[in-house]
Amino acid sequence: MNLNLNKFLSQLNPVPTNFGACWLCCLRAELSAGLCQTCYGDLPRLAPQPLVADHEHTRLWLAALAYQQPVERWIHDFKFNGISGLSSHMAPLLAAQAVKVYQHEQLYLPEVLVPVPLSERRWLHRGYNQSQLLAAELSKILAIPLQEPLNKRHTGENHRLTASQRRHNLAEAFYWREPLLAKRVAIIDDVITSGATVEAMAAVLRQEPCLVDAWGLAYTLPPSA
Ligand SMILES: [Zn+2]
Repeated sequence: MNLNLNKFLSQLNPVPTNFGACWLCCLRAELSAGLCQTCYGDLPRLAPQPLVADHEHTRLWLAALAYQQPVERWIHDFKFNGISGLSSHMAPLLAAQAVKVYQHEQLYLPEVLVPVPLSERRWLHRGYNQSQLLAAELSKILAIPLQEPLNKRHTGENHRLTASQRRHNLAEAFYWREPLLAKRVAIIDDVITSGATVEAMAAVLRQEPCLVDAWGLAYTLPPSA
């Protein structure tokens, strides 16, 4: 697996224009984050505070958007339909949310952004790591370095498993690629659902003395929310 090629390709990643039309309703309009004013205003934004969640290895979780339509469709295009450049539209939403949450909590921003790695098999299939692209854009906006200290083994189709099966599967999935260069870390993911992925990563990262937060572009609200 040539990770330098991954980095090289992500730097070439063009900002997709959708021919001047909104990504969600396809109407031609003045666009913010690639969306018309109506779609941009209707995004299901989350309050600028940490997500209430059960964390064992992370300090806080935050996300910009609720994972529901039309965000699901937007992220599906980003992740599965090859429109990798949507990262440049999406990252500013997450960057703004992160700054607000850290101000709200009176915390320092992390020293390094760590995208959730893809297994080699998944990367070869998709051609890019959507979390790495989001993290690269966030890194530019927030002037926080990106580091990829972990690799991931292929663990099969996790989205078909229960939360406890996922946790079991993920416990062995992440392993060190290079030493961590910071003490305050934010894991970057496109969608945080059960949090099993970020918790499994944080468990490995915390083998080094560090504080780990988790940022997702979107968050799957639990059924009770
Ligand atoms: Zn629209």
